[in-house]
Amino acid sequence: MISTKKLTESSAAFNTCTNAYVPHEVLVALWQDESTKTEPLVYAGEHVEEGQLIARDSRSLCQIHSPVPGKVEKFSVISLPNGKTGPCLTIKTEGSFSFLGRPKKKQQWDFMFADQLIRSIGEKGVINTFYKPKPLAVELMQQKLRQENRSIFLRLYDLDPTNCADSFIAKNYMPQILEAMSILSHIVEPSAVYCLFDKASTPKEDTDAMNILFNTVPLHFIPVDVSKYPCGGTFDVLRLVRRSAKSPDEISVSRKDLFIDSMTALSVYEAIVLNQPSMTRFVSVGGEAMTESKLFKVRIGTPIKNLLAECGGFCSQPSKILINGRIYGSAISNFDTPVTKYTKSITVLPKRLIDYIPTSPCIHCGNCRKICKADLQPDKLYMQYMKKSHLTPDEIKMTLLCSECRLCNMACPSRLPLFQTINEIKKIAETNYED
Ligand code: SF4
Ligand code: SF4
Repeated sequence: MISTKKLTESSAAFNTCTNAYVPHEVLVALWQDESTKTEPLVYAGEHVEEGQLIARDSRSLCQIHSPVPGKVEKFSVISLPNGKTGPCLTIKTEGSFSFLGRPKKKQQWDFMFADQLIRSIGEKGVINTFYKPKPLAVELMQQKLRQENRSIFLRLYDLDPTNCADSFIAKNYMPQILEAMSILSHIVEPSAVYCLFDKASTPKEDTDAMNILFNTVPLHFIPVDVSKYPCGGTFDVLRLVRRSAKSPDEISVSRKDLFIDSMTALSVYEAIVLNQPSMTRFVSVGGEAMTESKLFKVRIGTPIKNLLAECGGFCSQPSKILINGRIYGSAISNFDTPVTKYTKSITVLPKRLIDYIPTSPCIHCGNCRKICKADLQPDKLYMQYMKKSHLTPDEIKMTLLCSECRLCNMACPSRLPLFQTINEIKKIAETNYED
């Protein structure tokens, strides 16, 4: 484990949130998660309402809605925040908003069946952003099919300690998050719900409300020292929950359970209680090349250049743009890249901070082995994979234990892409050895 003190931007600017300006045009990516491809349901020149369905996947489990009212201008291919390219449609903002600025009416959901709730979550386009973005409705359907004990884990802090969106939502939207957890409990019927929170900021718990919401499901709040990295991945969460239990052998939890973050819980609340599709995101903008740091509530499809401009532009020559944090983030090179449902942060780094040190041969320092909590031998796996030498089934299977924390990369003085290589071997293991 490492201390996050050196990594986190201790900016007071992230304690408050600003509504970003509604852009003149939005670029709505048709791929809003890792796997789902949607087809547009509108044509160029068509007028759309805010919240209108504009693209749908084949199973309607991850639909996309217009974040603004306006006119569909064109279809094109753009850079996405995950560093890839993909199709998008451009909508020029015009007309009046159907949701923005209107009073929000709460709707009753407790009479709805689990299948109806899952369908509604899919129709509203809720993405689970706990780790790799996935349609939540698909995960909920998978949970329903599992015969064994099921649990739900809610992470109320950020996976990447250099982000702040999930922690901000946890601090400011706890009643909404708890109602969302109650909805998910209604669907999944778990044996327990575990809420992991930053021990430095006790969540506001309304005991009476929680007893009504979770009348039969045990709800556990687990304090976590978020100043120690890693603590937010699937393996870390399981470890923390097991460690907090009085008799760890008696609790039955696994990585097949449902893991969600604050952002996803808030989207579930908006979808089911407010009957509102996923159209906005909380996105922090910062980094040493930025004049100011800010946390925005922003329309999906807003080009990131608009947010950079709202932060006063650059104070030094930008050299690298990272989306979703300094540890887990992807680098992008295009300021027209739009905010998607999985965008949580934008970090712009100046040239002086990016010492380009090329990779060099392994010096056998042992750092990667010492730091790996999964007891893997990243150097050995890397060498064998690169030399295409034979990896035994046991060596391949061992990579399933990799928690994807990336600490081996951080510890390596030779800057070898250890995590990326182990991840490639892990994909082979997942295909061949996971049931
Ligand atoms: S191999 Fe690297 S990324 Fe995987 S658990 Fe070990 S240190 Fe973390
Ligand atoms: S940390 Fe890097 S240089 Fe050191 S043993 Fe591991 S792979 Fe080799």
